[in-house]
Amino acid sequence: MSKSPGEFHLIERLLKRLGPGRRAILGPGDDCAILPPARARQLLTIDSMVEDVHFKLAWGTPEALGARALTVNLSDIAAMGGKPTVCVVNLAVRDGLGLRFFDRMYEGLRKAAARAEVEVVGGNITRAGALAITIALLGEVRGAALRRDSARPGDTIYVTGTLGDAAAGLRILSGRLRILSGRLRARAAARKFLVSRFLQPTARLKAGLALARIKPAPSAVDLSDGLWQDLGHILERSGAGAEIDAGALPLSAAYRATIGDDPALALGGGEDYELLFCLRHAVAAPALTRRLGVRVSRIGRITSSGTAVLLDERGSVRGGAPPLHGWDQLRSRLSG
Ligand SMILES: [Mg+2]
Repeated sequence: MSKSPGEFHLIERLLKRLGPGRRAILGPGDDCAILPPARARQLLTIDSMVEDVHFKLAWGTPEALGARALTVNLSDIAAMGGKPTVCVVNLAVRDGLGLRFFDRMYEGLRKAAARAEVEVVGGNITRAGALAITIALLGEVRGAALRRDSARPGDTIYVTGTLGDAAAGLRILSGRLRILSGRLRARAAARKFLVSRFLQPTARLKAGLALARIKPAPSAVDLSDGLWQDLGHILERSGAGAEIDAGALPLSAAYRATIGDDPALALGGGEDYELLFCLRHAVAAPALTRRLGVRVSRIGRITSSGTAVLLDERGSVRGGAPPLHGWDQLRSRLSG
């Protein structure tokens, strides 16, 4: 399908907003962007956000949407210990959205890209039945990359930030979770925090770069699908098992105020975009927190068992703990 004059106009208008950069020899406007020869090993990732699959327009601002489309990609570069460099954007546009909407969305994308020192070097716009933003992002890694296949029995497992907040925020936005207890003001603050963790996640780029300086290179993954599932990726690729201490899972005050101490959402809820990593030589969490510039919690250890178990405070396997293969049931319970 050929492009309408309106689509060309939109491409030109949006790319103008992003401005020229320094990383590309030739940026937007030709058939391809031209990049200089790489100075380090290249990382390449891609992710899509589709209306009514990943978000609803009513949930947040167009700016937040544009920023989030980049952040989910930045998080993958962070999880490899890399530094993001350039990206290309494919925008699928449906009827009923005005220029003002796209201006605001690209403004959010532009700011997020500037913060991460990423340049948008090209893009494409297509008509479609649903609004979708797809970004392919390049990054570079100078040391050893943080891979999923390098965890070994005895490694200590850590996570950045707090878990389950975004999943709670998503449930608040979609009307599946209501904050009932506490004073009005505290409830509003908890709601605001949880919703913001879903709409405006943070990619842990600095933490990823700091992890890449540790030797041997930690095994790492970013938490996009939920701790239990993403840990499963490491265990599968590394041929290992894990013990997770339920009491050590970092829960925010807002999470506790809303959900209590039940770690189900922290284990199974996705979209946190925190990092999970495994260190051969354990380091105290406060020291790691200083080094990574973000709260770090020690949550368990890699074992040779080939399966993941959740341990209670006494160190025994928690009743009803989700075995690794029970993930799908956990997920359907959460999303039901
Ligand atoms: Mg990932």
